Amino acid sequence: MIKRILVAALALAALAPATTAFAGSQPGFIGCQFPPSSGNDLKWEDATTSVQYSNAAAAAIQDWNSSSTQFNLAKVNSGANIRVANGNFGAVWMNLELWGVTLNTSKEVPTTSCKDNDQRWDTTIVTWLNTYYMNSSTTNKRKAIYVHEIGHALGLAHTNDKNTCDISIMQIDIVDKYETCGKISSPQPEDVAAANYLYG
Ligand SMILES: [Zn+2]
Repeated sequence: MIKRILVAALALAALAPATTAFAGSQPGFIGCQFPPSSGNDLKWEDATTSVQYSNAAAAAIQDWNSSSTQFNLAKVNSGANIRVANGNFGAVWMNLELWGVTLNTSKEVPTTSCKDNDQRWDTTIVTWLNTYYMNSSTTNKRKAIYVHEIGHALGLAHTNDKNTCDISIMQIDIVDKYETCGKISSPQPEDVAAANYLYG
């Protein structure tokens, strides 16, 4: 309990920096993240099944790496922190209309994978695009949703800026806002700041 309060207090401190102002809200935190690794390297693997998804996945990873993030996502063939994938979840899955979803390797809500309460994922986290909806999408929109889902895998929660297009990529209704807000598809400064808080 003490640990949880401490983490919450640190998170609040990070959410209220003295000198930085963002146009949109800075994402909060899921409460799970990957363990620190040497050189701030995190590992990702490509489990996509077609070029239309692998291109979007690579572009999303490149976006996180080329942002001013203080970590690097390195591609591996096994033992990844983040697995980028595509699959058919149908029109409705678990009562949700999913365009993208972040799950553990058993397709469970991923927070069950830091259940020992150390705030660290103890499994690979899988970021999915639902082919049911995304097959007819553009590469840039696929990239946007991958960037969003990878943000969840990193430990970022949703933002919810209403009635504005000054949004973080972690905006809860990014699928709709993407269309109406200039096809945003990259981590925004507030997303980078939140990720750097966890991995900087
Ligand atoms: Zn989301």
